[in-house]
Amino acid sequence: MLISEIETKHILTHSKVPGLGYSINPYVGCQHACVYCYARFMKRFTNHEEPWGQFVDVKTNSLDVFDKDILKVKSGEGAFIASVTDAYQPVERKYKLTRSILERIADLPPDLFRNGFAVSILTKSDLVLRDLDILKRLEKISVGFSIAMTNETVCRLFEPRCSPIRQRIAALKTLRDAGIRTYAFINPILPGITDLPAIFAALEGVVEYVCGETLNMRCGNLTDVLHAVSLFNEDLRPSFDLNIRSRNYWKSVEREFYELSQKHSIPVNNFFHHIDSEHSY
Ligand code: SF4
Repeated sequence: MLISEIETKHILTHSKVPGLGYSINPYVGCQHACVYCYARFMKRFTNHEEPWGQFVDVKTNSLDVFDKDILKVKSGEGAFIASVTDAYQPVERKYKLTRSILERIADLPPDLFRNGFAVSILTKSDLVLRDLDILKRLEKISVGFSIAMTNETVCRLFEPRCSPIRQRIAALKTLRDAGIRTYAFINPILPGITDLPAIFAALEGVVEYVCGETLNMRCGNLTDVLHAVSLFNEDLRPSFDLNIRSRNYWKSVEREFYELSQKHSIPVNNFFHHIDSEHSY
């Protein structure tokens, strides 16, 4: 694992996440090394030769840059942490960049952000619990965990270095019990692998809402994904390959998603499709 220290020009970058306006990514690259990771396109903007998951660039000047960037943010806006990395990957234990930025947000003068500065965190690591003391100080905070499966053995194949699923669910419960708004991002949905009924059942009582997302194949991840599917179950590969390209299949998945949402009384906030003419029939 190559860990390098770099300087960044901006830490608050414009984002299309509804209701937020900005993203904060304290790191480039991600030690979690999920085989399906769509953020691998970020490698293009680095000089790295290593495979995705084998390098992290640490934006060591994040705090100084934050202090400048925040002056341009209008009242009522907020930030998504993080859009192209996991802000709670292992390297955060040492550098504490995410923690320091959250502290800065908690300390923002109320006259600058009269309506509060909204923060939405999405992670696959229960390291986020380390920062519960600061999260509790934030006026508008939600914390979500990405969950694509419930089987821990399969999880190790697709998400080799993330917190086990049971720890993510336990972390959601801890956060919710502490009064933090919680959500789950069920993504990416993997045909024949993602067990939606089991996930919804596990989320009952620990999240306020869910989002769903189909597999995003537009980032060069397909070879790795199909390889992991074969390792899991070679016999599944033909139907997996067929279903990920089928509009009808994804429509039926979305229908099931909303039915389960009703059954478990967990509202759906959004369901994202990534199917396009190049990858579908
Ligand atoms: S945790 Fe997120 S950013 Fe990190 S490798 Fe997995 S999908 Fe990519």
